[in-house]
Amino acid sequence: MKLYLNGHDYKYATEQMLLTLFPGQRPQYPEEEPEPGEDALTLSLSRGRAWATATAKLCYGGQAYKASRRCKLEELTDPLTTDRALQRILKLAFYDAGVAARGSEPPWGALTGVRPVKIPTKAILAGATPAQAERVLQHTYHVTPLRRRLAMDCAQASLDALAALHPGEVSLYVGIPFCPTRCAYCSFVSADVGRALKLIEPFLEALSREIRATGKVLEETGLKVRAIYFGGGTPTTLSASQLDRLMGELADQLDLSACTEYTVEAGRPDTITREKLAVLARRGCDRVSVNPQSMEDHVLAAMGRAHRGADILAAYQLVRDSGIGCVNMDLIAGLPADTVDGFRSSLDQVLELGPENITVHTLALKKGSRLMEENAAIPSGEEVAAMLDYAWAALRQAGQRPYYLYRQKYMSGSFENVGWSLPGYENLYNICMMEELHTILSLGGGGITKLVDHKAGRIVRIANPKYPKEYLDKIDAVCAGKEQVALFTAHSKEE
Ligand code: SF4
Repeated sequence: MKLYLNGHDYKYATEQMLLTLFPGQRPQYPEEEPEPGEDALTLSLSRGRAWATATAKLCYGGQAYKASRRCKLEELTDPLTTDRALQRILKLAFYDAGVAARGSEPPWGALTGVRPVKIPTKAILAGATPAQAERVLQHTYHVTPLRRRLAMDCAQASLDALAALHPGEVSLYVGIPFCPTRCAYCSFVSADVGRALKLIEPFLEALSREIRATGKVLEETGLKVRAIYFGGGTPTTLSASQLDRLMGELADQLDLSACTEYTVEAGRPDTITREKLAVLARRGCDRVSVNPQSMEDHVLAAMGRAHRGADILAAYQLVRDSGIGCVNMDLIAGLPADTVDGFRSSLDQVLELGPENITVHTLALKKGSRLMEENAAIPSGEEVAAMLDYAWAALRQAGQRPYYLYRQKYMSGSFENVGWSLPGYENLYNICMMEELHTILSLGGGGITKLVDHKAGRIVRIANPKYPKEYLDKIDAVCAGKEQVALFTAHSKEE
């Protein structure tokens, strides 16, 4: 859509709302005026004597829509407050015009952030009742009733997790950026999967250095690891002996006496073997993800996954035989070549297996993925909505409850990803990471360390290199960067 900003330069806020209202549209900032009847937005900001006014003039589908919002100038007391207030009225003016043009409110209303649960959680922590917190979602952000219920359930899980944490605890993420082949919707692992696989051994050597550097920092600071999460990529791309070495190194170098949760993503069934599961179980892993994404063979084939629905059933059985007590399974709503019936059938088959956790993702078209490059046809927003409606009802019926959620850019229908769990099986790491409840130390490829100081309202993010080659090239700096954890912790203690 052509965007014209007058009297301000809040491009990011405007684009966020564009994505929310019209997920298929990409922003353009042309010099010339739009053609008559062409889709375009003029978003203006003006200041009078007492008010700042945002006006949206939207042309969509040949029709014109106009909306305004304003705030008092006396509210604009400092640069941060001013930015927030002006962005809010600009977004809401665009939202009002956009909703009139679409004829419906988006599922998450005018909420544009990726973490909707933080809003009710913060409100409750500040003294609001759950009903008051829900009203913030309803009246300030126009969130629809189903999404409000989802957010409130997850807020409760977040508060429960917060109550279970102890001071000085952190979580550990270990990123293994390798997969046997690359899925069509993936932007995580390097496009040349075969070449990357040759780097596994040097990668593990470098990771061993990073583990030792992390061990030193934990010892210095007294921080304790509460939860471990191996993600990627697919960590079980490593052989049984490589996994054994890596997990052994973690146990030797870090004090894991406070660790109550150890998760390994064994996402792709084509990487799961009895030997690897035996290593995971022996090394203390008590949660594994086996991720079908779909149980429909033609959908899996279209995604470039080298397994079929039957392989999932076999892998699931192997995990159950290994004695690892908690299994998560991921599904994606909105995959190309999938249908509402196909998705329902996938979910029914997964529910039949009875995993303790099920994560329902909505397809997000990511830059750098094959799907994005090929502009592939995907199910419509209405079809994805029907898939999610079915999932919600079936999951609740099966006794599962939503416990964490997040949104991403370019999600089909502007929906969300939701982690569901049988009561008592919620994954603490997922909640801590998504809701930023405590510090997450990330090792390996692609993770982001988040240093969290709640008292000071401070979060510092440090990204590890994403791809194996880059990680190897920068390993000296990655290890030296652990010093920041010590500095941050010392500074937080002083305050
Ligand atoms: S399994 Fe996950 S990380 Fe690996 S290629 Fe597929 S989407 Fe990417």
